[in-house]
Amino acid sequence: MTTTFTKKDLTIADQQRLQTLEQHIELARDYFLGYPVSKDFDFSEINHFLNFPINNIGDPYEQGSTYRVQTHELEREVIRFFAKLFRANPQDYWGYVTNGSSESNLYGLYLAREMYPKGMVYYSGSTHYSVRKNIHLLNIPSIVIRSQDNGEIDYEDFENTVRMNRHKPAIVLATFGTTMHEAKDDVTRLKGILKKLAIQDHYIHCDGALAGTFGAFIEPRLPFDFKDGADSISISGHKFVGSPIPCGVIVTKKSNRDRIAKGISYIGSLDTTITGSRNGHSPLFLWYGLKKMGEEGLRARYLYSLDIARYCENKLKEAGITAWRNPEAITVVLPKTTESIKQKWQLATEGDMSHIICMPNVTRAQIDEFVEDIVNSEEEAEEEFEFEF
Ligand SMILES: *Cc1c(COP(=O)(O)O)cnc(C)c1O
Repeated sequence: MTTTFTKKDLTIADQQRLQTLEQHIELARDYFLGYPVSKDFDFSEINHFLNFPINNIGDPYEQGSTYRVQTHELEREVIRFFAKLFRANPQDYWGYVTNGSSESNLYGLYLAREMYPKGMVYYSGSTHYSVRKNIHLLNIPSIVIRSQDNGEIDYEDFENTVRMNRHKPAIVLATFGTTMHEAKDDVTRLKGILKKLAIQDHYIHCDGALAGTFGAFIEPRLPFDFKDGADSISISGHKFVGSPIPCGVIVTKKSNRDRIAKGISYIGSLDTTITGSRNGHSPLFLWYGLKKMGEEGLRARYLYSLDIARYCENKLKEAGITAWRNPEAITVVLPKTTESIKQKWQLATEGDMSHIICMPNVTRAQIDEFVEDIVNSEEEAEEEFEFEF
């Protein structure tokens, strides 16, 4: 059955609602500095794929599934792209496109728990909120490690805490680019501590939601990938690459995922993913975005963002604002702003701190406007102060 429903069949009021919604979204997109989401994508050439019920159900590497309206081949290429960028062993990697880093982190922790059912999870206080929930879902004991002022894990506290629990396998959730400060936990240093304490049974998952995507291009290099000691790595696709649909990537060692693979005759594939039906459009968007950019394009995006972040930090400092950045970060941390600036620029705020994230679509003109807003708001606040007394 096909319906001939068109937008014109909506009531006038509903047609107007759609129009207003689009205007709101467009305006909100243009004043958007607080969240790590790229807005400069153009998928108009492949939009017509939305006309198909694409579903990537099952394992992307299992051929022979009876559900053929899928994009598994492109999904595998997306995984291969990141496996190479993350210096995975070409003979021993596996992964899939998830709904985002929250699911990717859940997957990493799931693999870790299957390997070490008696393990203990260690993560820092700056870890993304999804991790606490994931640990709860998986019912694994865990300990929160102190984080340093810059948001990076406190290695001394980590060492002391692990030492007290050294009879247990260690599952470490490292963050490469914390949500608030874009601080990067040093995976090699964490691994070194485990080695020093002679803990052979260990697993390191690296949450690189934003910064993992450009981690390979950071100079000087900061350790986060498979060669540096990670067992699995997650990133979000809608953050640095950009996608109209939130999505993520998990890359792990194939040998790890083989432990949990169970054959499912109903779909003729392996049940290796968290959800059954899986979004088949987001691998297509990611593949297209990566083809367009290539590795060099991705590097250029990072260098552009870094340049804007330096510009932003300097501009704020010149205006007398105590702004700072972690080394080579594209996130600029600043004291929290007035409510109206927070609303206008959609700034994520935590305690007395706020940040702006210089994603590849952010321009110098936007930074200028933002800094001007801050300077004006401070002048207004001073005038009010004078008036009151
Ligand atoms: C954004 C973010 C997440 C969650 O990613 P989603 O794709 O929104 O699920 C996890 N970890 C970190 C460090 C993040 O910044």
